[in-house]
Amino acid sequence: MDAAGRPAPVRMCVRCQRVTETPVLVQEVHSNSGPGWNVYACPGCAPHIPPSSDVLDLLDAARRRRGEEAGR
Ligand SMILES: [Zn+2]
Repeated sequence: MDAAGRPAPVRMCVRCQRVTETPVLVQEVHSNSGPGWNVYACPGCAPHIPPSSDVLDLLDAARRRRGEEAGR
C-alpha cells in the first residue's frame, strides 16, 4: 500500500511473466500508432534486463516459451 492507502500497483514481470507487487520500470515503449506503454519487471529480474534490449522480442520469446516448449 502507498501512503494514501491504495493497494500496491500490480504489474506483470516482462521476463518471468509473474505478477509482482513491487514492479520495477525497466523500459518505456513508444509506439508510432498510439500511446506507448511502460514495461515492468520484478525486482529479481530487473537487473537482468538490458536497458536497451528490444522488449518486444523479450515479450515474444516469453510468450513462445509459455505456449510450446519446443523451438530450437
Ligand atoms: Zn521477473
